[in-house]
Amino acid sequence: MTDLLSIGDAESLRGLLPGRLFLPGDDGYDAACRPWNLAAVLGPAAVALPESVADVQAIVKAATAAGLRIAPMSTGHAGSLLAATDLSRTVLVHLSRLTGVTVDREARTARVTGGSLWIDVLAAAGPHGLTALHGSSGDVAVAGFALSGGMSFYGRRHGLAANSVRAVELVTADGAPRRVSADEDDDLFWALRGGSGNFGVVTAIELDLLPYADVFAGMMLWDRARAAEVMHAWRDFTLDAPESVTTSFRVMSLPPLPDLPPFLSGRDVVVIDGAVLESDERAARLLAPLRDLMPEVDTFGRIPTIDLLAMHMDPPEPTPAVSDHTILAALPDAAIEAFLAQVGPGTRSGLLFAELRQLGGEFARPAEGGGAISHVDGGYALYAIAVAPTPEAAEAGGAAASALARALEPWAQPHSLLLTFCEHPVTAAEAYGDSFERLLLTASRVDPNGVFQAGHGIR
Ligand SMILES: Cc1cc2nc3c(=O)[nH]c(=O)nc-3n(C[C@H](O)[C@H](O)[C@H](O)COP(=O)(O)OP(=O)(O)OC[C@H]3O[C@@H](n4cnc5c(N)ncnc54)[C@H](O)[C@@H]3O)c2cc1C
Repeated sequence: MTDLLSIGDAESLRGLLPGRLFLPGDDGYDAACRPWNLAAVLGPAAVALPESVADVQAIVKAATAAGLRIAPMSTGHAGSLLAATDLSRTVLVHLSRLTGVTVDREARTARVTGGSLWIDVLAAAGPHGLTALHGSSGDVAVAGFALSGGMSFYGRRHGLAANSVRAVELVTADGAPRRVSADEDDDLFWALRGGSGNFGVVTAIELDLLPYADVFAGMMLWDRARAAEVMHAWRDFTLDAPESVTTSFRVMSLPPLPDLPPFLSGRDVVVIDGAVLESDERAARLLAPLRDLMPEVDTFGRIPTIDLLAMHMDPPEPTPAVSDHTILAALPDAAIEAFLAQVGPGTRSGLLFAELRQLGGEFARPAEGGGAISHVDGGYALYAIAVAPTPEAAEAGGAAASALARALEPWAQPHSLLLTFCEHPVTAAEAYGDSFERLLLTASRVDPNGVFQAGHGIR
């Protein structure tokens, strides 16, 4: 593998795909490399913006002929992972121009091209009364999300997004376009649903959709001074919550932004949000213990499913960010105390938010016919993020996020990670657990020279 890769020469790509392929120093190189996470600086040997499957094939053939590796990227939400690898002999294939969604209403599926975003899927599915297992943010791509697990606010009832994938189209290291599914190379189909960008450039994904035109969802907000009582109440709420309910608890430090309403701008708050797949009456009954805490804001109610994308208040634009993640087996009082000692009232962690999402239910069940990642063990997923506009802020924010994860280590679920929340490098064995050995075998069959370089690489 190394012999082949050590003779790479990106100059030989010059002239390929005019206006869609750039080398360092070219006008357009920096913009084409820029990931959603602006704290991640990517400096590949070349960057390509394919507009068709034929473009992808041309890039793969030229890159492999030149002895270069290939790193697929749809949005760069997880750009920090690629930034932590050596890209000096790698062509970054940025799929932001290869997009499009078609919905088959009868089959209740969507065919999602290349780098398409969840907002594109919901915009196409919504008019048919359908939705999907999307995450909190509309500008995350389906590919990086669904092929690394993908945790939705419908997940405790419907499981990880990876289990909703029915087929994947990709260009493999030999430059050939392939379609894989349960009936077509089921081993590669298994590997892609978890192993993500390790096997090729994904040019389309076929997904199951959900028959929901609207949903009971929203958020409740309190001042951070109420963090302890709200967190205890949320923990108790999660212990009783049926699988139809998927919620998160967050301590947020909202920046002083003119876009925010004045009563929120610059404030430290606690927020509970999520979705309840029940009738309005039953949802209201389930939420009553939280409403009894008299939130300052309560938006829970029935909304069109596409509006779920606005609920979590994720940054609306590319943002420089650093994060940490761990999974907790449970949330006893001592873990709540440890959490609040880092980010509760009177602390100054510098984090934008520290979040726990409830797991369990269908998240925890290995899916029949599932892929390399089909479930996640544990009770709660921690995701801590800091905005990092400068290297100093990145260092301080990264330290604060890690300090929170470390403080919660005594309650960590052993050998469990949610790869979509894991934006810091971990070893391949940690990332893929029991699936690691089989993923390696599949990679040695499909990509024997180790051409593909993924966020969470398997080698
Ligand atoms: C604001 C925000 C909100 C989020 N909310 C959630 C959430 O609710 N639930 C959740 O589970 N996660 C969430 N995430 C995490 C997010 O799902 C991951 O970062 C995910 O990997 C992003 O996928 P992407 O394709 O947009 O990113 P990218 O950085 O482009 O891709 C990540 C990796 O996926 C692979 N990949 C991407 N596209 C392709 C392709 N076309 N072909 C082959 N491989 C590909 C590559 O290996 C790449 O390194 C959130 C992240 C942010 C920043």
